[in-house]
Amino acid sequence: MLARAKPEYAIPEVCRNFVNGQWVNSSVRLPVINPVDEQVLTEIAEADAGLVDDAVGSARRTFEKGTWSKLGLEERQKVLFRIADLIDEHADELAWLESMNIGSPLSQCRGRHVPRAAYNFRFFAEYISQSRSDAYTQLDNYLSVVTREPVGVAALIGPWNAPIALTSMKIAAALAFGNCCVVKPSEISPLTALRMVDLIRESGVPDGVVNLVNGSGAVTGAALASHPDIDVLSFTGGTATGRAIMSAAGQNLTPVTLELGGKSANIIFDDADFERALDGALISIFSNNGQQCLAGSRILVQEGIAERFIDAFVQRTRNLRIGDPLLPETEVGPLATKQHLDRVHSFVDTLEADGCKLLIGGNPCAGFEKGFYYEPTAVLAPDNKAVVCQEEIFGPFAAFQIFKTPQQAWDIANDSKFGLLGYVWTSNYATAMAAHEHVKSGVLCINSPIIRELRAPFGGYKESGVGRESGAACEAFYSELKTTAFLTGDVPLRKLGAGEA
Ligand code: NAD
Repeated sequence: MLARAKPEYAIPEVCRNFVNGQWVNSSVRLPVINPVDEQVLTEIAEADAGLVDDAVGSARRTFEKGTWSKLGLEERQKVLFRIADLIDEHADELAWLESMNIGSPLSQCRGRHVPRAAYNFRFFAEYISQSRSDAYTQLDNYLSVVTREPVGVAALIGPWNAPIALTSMKIAAALAFGNCCVVKPSEISPLTALRMVDLIRESGVPDGVVNLVNGSGAVTGAALASHPDIDVLSFTGGTATGRAIMSAAGQNLTPVTLELGGKSANIIFDDADFERALDGALISIFSNNGQQCLAGSRILVQEGIAERFIDAFVQRTRNLRIGDPLLPETEVGPLATKQHLDRVHSFVDTLEADGCKLLIGGNPCAGFEKGFYYEPTAVLAPDNKAVVCQEEIFGPFAAFQIFKTPQQAWDIANDSKFGLLGYVWTSNYATAMAAHEHVKSGVLCINSPIIRELRAPFGGYKESGVGRESGAACEAFYSELKTTAFLTGDVPLRKLGAGEA
């Protein structure tokens, strides 16, 4: 392995909490581990329930003061554009921090995740200038006008797998519609959210609008999710956590959006553009080291091309460049944590009983003295009942199945507790239309890996989530609708109590 590039950017010794414009420490420290050398990269100062309460209180008071919630649209836009510009100006640093923290290849962090974070702020800055609302005039003598108001305080809880891209989406949407927020990044990946908060402050967002609490899910996350003074909660993470969060928030009738897990089917028909489908299948399962909710982790191939396709896939998998995520040539880096590596590896134990054939991989990588590297893995499953076809593995682990007819493909695709994405590769228009009709997933990509169109809803069917994220979906979530009825004519009123005794 080549020597790794020297660190060029500072990593804070302690990731503190940001409450009402101040950095706040705490005595409970949790280590954050570098997935490449397994050393402590930094620590987080865990926010307990009291500090979470301070952060929510700060957001609430700031919201009521109106320094942000009542700021004129153009001023708000200017600040959001400034955040986007600052993210772009610090893109190398942010990508480096992300890659150091979670082990994602630097090229992917720099090429996709950080530009996406900047774009999220630009998108919502532009979106709010085009917002419209309704007026109803059908009722004689009344004009009913519908307006939107910011909802108040948003709790934003993020995962570790793509922190900057996903957390920036939540912050950008909450701020654009005039809210204050409390952000809780994953305890595994605090670095980019922390730096983003610095940049948000530099952009001119008033103190108290964006607060950040660090800590574990059990302590900090649970305190935030159950806090009675949050108005909405947006969560991205695992399905089990989503359940706990929805129950906690439900006690306060706090509305939630949940972006959860997936086990998406990537369906490749005989008539697909072979090379393009092959590229797409590899991208869908091995990008971000396989740690993506939207991974095409069940690859269904039609029998006419199955053998050739699977052979080519295995060959390309063998050639993947695994290594230090900071090196430009690296295509697959280490998994984020040792615990996650062990979990991914544990699925190999299920293969024999389920009759699956291991095609490649299936072990932690040899040849690395340190680091949570896992071999890119592919298996062939006899049917969709196999554990590796049902459970989200969230690693570089593809499960192939072979199908005969389109109907079989739809049945296999839909036989899942998840329903986040679907991918279909075909040159037949009718097959594409049939996929559109039959595949039960929140997003379906035809002849393409994931394309995230922010104007269009993103989210999952079934256990993949509740609610959607998009311009309009976020507008609905982060604002309250108010109907005001104006009397415009002469409407006599009944005179209660004015009768003769
Ligand atoms: P996770 O559920 O373990 O943690 C996510 C966040 O929730 C973390 O900040 C964690 O501290 C917090 N948390 C944990 N327990 C909590 C509790 N009881 N109350 C409040 N907060 C709590 O998820 P993860 O391992 O960080 O991320 C991986 C999962 O996220 C995968 O299942 C993946 O599919 C999913 N994901 C979904 C999307 C999507 O858009 N659908 C995107 C990315 C990741």
